[in-house]
Amino acid sequence: HPQPLLVLDDVEAVYGGSILALRGISLNVPANGIVALLGANGAGKTTVLRSISGLLSWHRGRVSRGRIAYDGADIAGLGGAALVRRGIAQVMEGRRIFGELTIEENLRMGAFTRRDGAETRRTLDQVLEQFPILRERFAQPAGYLSGGQQQMLAIGRAMMARPRLLLLDEPSLGLAPIIVKQIREVIRHIAAGGVSVMLVEQNADMALSLADYGYILESGRIALEGPGPVLKENPMIRELYLGIV
Ligand code: ATP
Repeated sequence: HPQPLLVLDDVEAVYGGSILALRGISLNVPANGIVALLGANGAGKTTVLRSISGLLSWHRGRVSRGRIAYDGADIAGLGGAALVRRGIAQVMEGRRIFGELTIEENLRMGAFTRRDGAETRRTLDQVLEQFPILRERFAQPAGYLSGGQQQMLAIGRAMMARPRLLLLDEPSLGLAPIIVKQIREVIRHIAAGGVSVMLVEQNADMALSLADYGYILESGRIALEGPGPVLKENPMIRELYLGIV
């Protein structure tokens, strides 16, 4: 096996010095493929993403034990911009687009670490090709977009950094089934282009239909892991997360 792109080894994380959110998480994201992270509210999914993306400190949290290695190097303590430069981009829960800025301005913000204007322009063209609605609305304020379109914009913005690893926090949240289906195809397309994806979802059906491999989190620990199709057939998961008995 080639070396995984991202390795978490026994990662523990705390908020405010005493709230233990992760109790020793070990997981891998391969250099190609989609990894899903599932679990109930409060299980620690977002905290795993924050530990990787360096955003934990914004929430008065820190990694208190363990190691996070990306591309063979320890990335603990690196800030957002340094991580984006190395190829880690993320779409945060709730999308966080700038409603008063135009679609174009939102997208260009995703390329803030890039210097080469011609290359950036090429990426912009690729993103607009993938999301025609963003081209149509290019000069309009992003706040006018529907929820699903805003999710597309948030994903497009992350892709503007030309990441090797894309972290997605609940991209299907609050969206209609038909939009969820579109987002699923977008994620499939991104992964097919060689970008590794770490997908945090409460929508287990969507996540497991995409994921090469999945991890189930429970109270800050990995309760179960396995290939996506295997997890999808697991009776416990079918009952707990898919509502099928
Ligand atoms: P959700 O789907 O609700 O986002 P989650 O699986 O992503 O859930 P986390 O948000 O990672 O779970 O939360 C894990 C634990 O850490 C929970 O007990 C939560 O209350 C706690 N927690 C999360 N953020 C903070 C914070 N900023 N300060 C203190 N505790 C927090």
